[in-house]
Amino acid sequence: MIREIVAKTILSRVSQVDTIFGLDYGMNLYRGCQHRCIYCDSRSRCYGIDRFDSEVLVKSNAIDLLRDALSRKRKIGIIGTGSMNDPYMPVEREVGLTRRALETIADYGFGVHVITKSDLVLRDIDVLKRIARVSAAVSFTITTIEDDLARRVEPQAPPSSSRLRAMKALSDAGIETRVSLMPTLPFIEDNWNNVSAIIEAAHQHGARVVIPWFGMSMRDRQREYFYRQLDQLFPGLKQRYQRTYGADYSCPSPHADDLYARSHALCERLGLATRVMPRLAPSAEPLSLFDPPL
Ligand code: SF4
Repeated sequence: MIREIVAKTILSRVSQVDTIFGLDYGMNLYRGCQHRCIYCDSRSRCYGIDRFDSEVLVKSNAIDLLRDALSRKRKIGIIGTGSMNDPYMPVEREVGLTRRALETIADYGFGVHVITKSDLVLRDIDVLKRIARVSAAVSFTITTIEDDLARRVEPQAPPSSSRLRAMKALSDAGIETRVSLMPTLPFIEDNWNNVSAIIEAAHQHGARVVIPWFGMSMRDRQREYFYRQLDQLFPGLKQRYQRTYGADYSCPSPHADDLYARSHALCERLGLATRVMPRLAPSAEPLSLFDPPL
């Protein structure tokens, strides 16, 4: 079900220096996500999205809020979107909220970092190019190189191969692309064959950065949902998780140290960065709305 709501705010300030994605602000245009990844942390109670898997809330006043917020900021920064829901989930095809938000960000001269699993992002190459005069990057989350496995753990998201093709198209268009190699599901995806194949594919498809995290987090509703899915998809694996992690929030892969060492070495050999620092074009300043579009 899709329902419109009126939001109070649209931008949140990233309080600490973000050494993972280099963000200054976070932006969520929707609540809930149609991709239904079995491991999604946004199901956790702390976020208060009670019908995460059955309802998507569209923030109908998001663009007005964004315009107002950006017009009052004296210092430009990088706005991240995609951490709590996928800005290119299917509903975006009809609603176009992400596209209009990107146009607004371009108008005000801010940078953007998009995290997505969808090739729908290609629709907005033209706007991303405008934003790239300040800073634009698109990270594709890829947790498995195998499309069949992706269909099981990320059932409504486009398969990994589509994400890679989209990455290549964006890279060829001059947009910086990255791979968010996270989470890496213990006992399912945390093997070197999978990890090295993702890194090599990232390199072949034009990514400049691969940010790995070998493990996952789990709490309350997220854990309950994940374990129900494991029982259906991977019988017997829930018990292994329970024995290994108990009620822990942080669930690192038992092979994490080895995977970090090998993946950093491979990334270095391929010229891929494994972390991002904030980067704005040196001359980036807030734009007047009357600046001509590039
Ligand atoms: S795409 Fe991201 S936000 Fe959406 S269900 Fe998957 S992990 Fe959650």
